[in-house]
Amino acid sequence: MFHPLRVTGIERLTDDSVTVTFDVPAPLRETYRFAAGQHLAVRRFVDGSEIRRTYSVCDPAPGPEGPESLRVGVRLVEGGEFSVFAHKELAVGDLVDVMPPTGRFVLDPRPGYFAAVVGGSGITPVLSHIATVLGREPAARFCLVRSDRSAASTMFLEEIADLKDRYPDRLQLVNVLSREDQQAGLPSGRLDQERLTALLPALLPVAAVDGWYLCGPFGLVRGAEQALRGLGVDRSRIHQEIFHVEEDGPVTGPRPNPGPGRQHGRRDARRTRGELAVRGR
Ligand SMILES: Cc1cc2nc3c(=O)[nH]c(=O)nc-3n(C[C@H](O)[C@H](O)[C@H](O)COP(=O)(O)OP(=O)(O)OC[C@H]3O[C@@H](n4cnc5c(N)ncnc54)[C@H](O)[C@@H]3O)c2cc1C
Repeated sequence: MFHPLRVTGIERLTDDSVTVTFDVPAPLRETYRFAAGQHLAVRRFVDGSEIRRTYSVCDPAPGPEGPESLRVGVRLVEGGEFSVFAHKELAVGDLVDVMPPTGRFVLDPRPGYFAAVVGGSGITPVLSHIATVLGREPAARFCLVRSDRSAASTMFLEEIADLKDRYPDRLQLVNVLSREDQQAGLPSGRLDQERLTALLPALLPVAAVDGWYLCGPFGLVRGAEQALRGLGVDRSRIHQEIFHVEEDGPVTGPRPNPGPGRQHGRRDARRTRGELAVRGR
């Protein structure tokens, strides 16, 4: 069931990404309550045909009263029907048809050790995971391994750095920048299965992690899953959300859940305490 929600904010995150905030009127707040990591569908009509796309909510999960607003992060996809619209036409005050949040890529706050491997816009649900679990559960820890082209294209750099400042001993950050100059002594190369197999055990006690959250393009998610399985992690501890399948990427395995309709599949780059920047090709 779609409801028209009013856009109350559009903020630029990077040159090619924005956040869009929707107001949730009081009578709909219970309906739009979400768990950390869930996503919502939006739709619009172009020349009489309906376009639906899915975006993960990046806010911390609300309490039982539900959210007053919902915020999503949208990366611009060249020629993309919805993301180009969100970047170039959508304006504060517009109404957008939004479905209540859904999805099983959730992390309910509980004590434990959690880790995520994300690529690009795959950070969006994991930002919600981290803020929710560390904010609500003092006995929770989180390790985030993220892969981006460059610091300038890294979404939510400032918010993640703020979380690191707030939880310096419970949040570990590893940024892998694939298209910036390599620093001497740091590992290089894309975050693929082979590299993750070597990198992850050097960062954290892999077997002690209660839940792994993998999100982003198919190739990265699949490579991370294979690395974790090879390191002996049980399937039940691995959670995955695939945002899209790269056109030149692998063609085997599960494809992203397209959802209903025509769905397809700043702070500067400074490092905060305990954060390791890994730069590669
Ligand atoms: C569960 C789920 C959650 C998602 N959450 C987010 C989110 O929080 N933020 C976000 O930005 N996106 C997210 N996505 C991706 C989003 O739903 C759209 O696919 C994306 O915004 C592109 O839509 P579009 O209409 O602009 O492009 P389209 O018109 O659908 O596609 C144009 C071209 O770009 C390719 N393409 C499609 N998606 C991508 C992509 N992500 N990267 C590169 N190329 C692509 C297509 O194959 C096609 O060739 C999510 C997807 C899923 C399945």
